[in-house]
Amino acid sequence: MRDFSTDHRWLSINTATVRRQLGVDWPLPQILDACAARGIRAVSPWRDQVAAAGLDATARQLRALGLELSGYCRGGMFTYSDGAGRQTARDDNRRALDEACTLGAGCLVLVVGGLPGALEGRTAHRDIAAAREQVSEGIAALLDDARSRGMPLAIEPLHPMYAADRACINTLAQSLDVCDALDPSRSGALGVAVDVYHVWWDPQLEAQIRRAGRERLLAFHVCDWLVPTTDLLNDRGMMGDGVIDLRRIRGWVEAQGYAGYSEVEVFSAAHWWQRAGGEVLDTCIDRHRRCL
Ligand code: ZN
Repeated sequence: MRDFSTDHRWLSINTATVRRQLGVDWPLPQILDACAARGIRAVSPWRDQVAAAGLDATARQLRALGLELSGYCRGGMFTYSDGAGRQTARDDNRRALDEACTLGAGCLVLVVGGLPGALEGRTAHRDIAAAREQVSEGIAALLDDARSRGMPLAIEPLHPMYAADRACINTLAQSLDVCDALDPSRSGALGVAVDVYHVWWDPQLEAQIRRAGRERLLAFHVCDWLVPTTDLLNDRGMMGDGVIDLRRIRGWVEAQGYAGYSEVEVFSAAHWWQRAGGEVLDTCIDRHRRCL
């Protein structure tokens, strides 16, 4: 297992961690500069942040700063209630793939979608099995393009509390079932993003990480689970402040040969988004060394 205690060369910052500090949007170009100034070598930006800064300008800045992308957030939201919704989802995923390629991302992260319309408060039906079928179809439709362009797709299972509105794929086992069905040769074009926040509780976690193996482990996201958690979406903890056995899980992932970045992804409306961005980045570096 790699020793993270003496440097932070394998730290990546998911830029949602510092997207809005003290009530003010922190523009992506400034986030990238602040990361580079601290010797952080990788980030994972969100599409809205890149759109605000400009895709080509962001690509140029990343190259100039020598920053890599541990992933790009995000594609997915494959579920639909009619033909127009299906086409909208497919078109949007093609654009996400284009952007990921322009930025040279390590993978395109997929948050697959829940029951159609649920996120907007107008749930179209209650058939979660049908939603899961649509997810598999949507990934299959994107996979050929992704493969030919050399951009791996990383399915991110989300904690079951998001099954209705964000992702009906909720365990690593489910994610790997899709991978096995669509990419049986384990080509590396399709895999998973293991986010400890979503999967730490799963009694099958170690076994499923082993099942994923090197070829399917495309990203590793870290934060912590606070007790109590006061918000379903935006109350993630900084590493070391919660109950996740981070080092043990990282050990399982690295035992499979994963040697990529640990991407810090903390959505924290009440706490970390209420600090100056530089202080949050410094804390990420410190906790990455001490708690991971
Ligand atoms: Zn994540």
